[in-house]
Amino acid sequence: MPTLTGKTALVTGSTSGIGLAMAVALARQGANIMMNGFGEKDVAIASVKACGVDVDYHGADMSKPAEIEAMIAATERRFGAIDILINNAGIQYVANVEDFPEDRWDAVIAINLSSAFHTTRFALPGMKQRNWGRIINIASVHGLVASMQKAAYVAAKHGIIGLTKVVALETARTGVTCNAICPGWVLTPLVQKQVDARAEREGISNDAAKLALVSEKQPSGEFVSPEQLAALAVFLCGNDASEVRGAAWNMDGGWTAQ
Ligand code: NAD
Repeated sequence: MPTLTGKTALVTGSTSGIGLAMAVALARQGANIMMNGFGEKDVAIASVKACGVDVDYHGADMSKPAEIEAMIAATERRFGAIDILINNAGIQYVANVEDFPEDRWDAVIAINLSSAFHTTRFALPGMKQRNWGRIINIASVHGLVASMQKAAYVAAKHGIIGLTKVVALETARTGVTCNAICPGWVLTPLVQKQVDARAEREGISNDAAKLALVSEKQPSGEFVSPEQLAALAVFLCGNDASEVRGAAWNMDGGWTAQ
């Protein structure tokens, strides 16, 4: 039985990877979906529409607050409400801190952190008014621990966990919850770029680079799948999770247990 029929979910960065898997999983539970992101949008939209729900797309650039505000307004106009907000859009840039380009720092902070502040502040009034809402921030193990050469990403992901806790406290007496999911390595386009870079740098095959990357941090030696993360998001949207508030829930093959 679908559990989210009649609800609307906005999933940022849902044209590929984890965001797309979340959009599909929520649609399978009956939620209408507003999609967003810069990837192959027609293919992504078609795979969500195949679940038999209403789907639309907004091309807001998540580094631009005015475009984010327009997307929230457009979603509320189109579907009547935003019940579920998945802050998922994200980028990565890898460099030592003294070499980190200023514009890349600004972009990572804007897309991976500030965008969630803007979507939340614009969507929350409607959720509070209806006394129901789910805000899920896709953080990372890098919101809990650090790795070298990822200064902006680690700062943004630690920041979004802080934002999650504040929003959870400010909504604690309402039917709105706010939580973060902290994935370990997931083989998506964002990580494939790091696999490609490693294969080239070390002169090894793509498969060897994948194994080296995942084994270095994840005791399980296995990637987490987008579908596993999406199942956790569906759980957080359900009634059984109504008292999960302010959590930073890792799914990381044991990465942060070490
Ligand atoms: P991905 O590259 O497949 O997806 C990122 C999405 O964000 C895409 O749809 C992309 O178009 C969109 N996007 C990028 N910049 C944007 C912008 N300015 N405006 C709007 N959309 C934009 O990567 P993914 O791995 O699925 O990443 C999704 C989230 O999961 C990110 O926040 C990432 O940090 C997080 N995450 C990923 C991993 C992993 O191993 N892949 C691990 C932990 C956390």
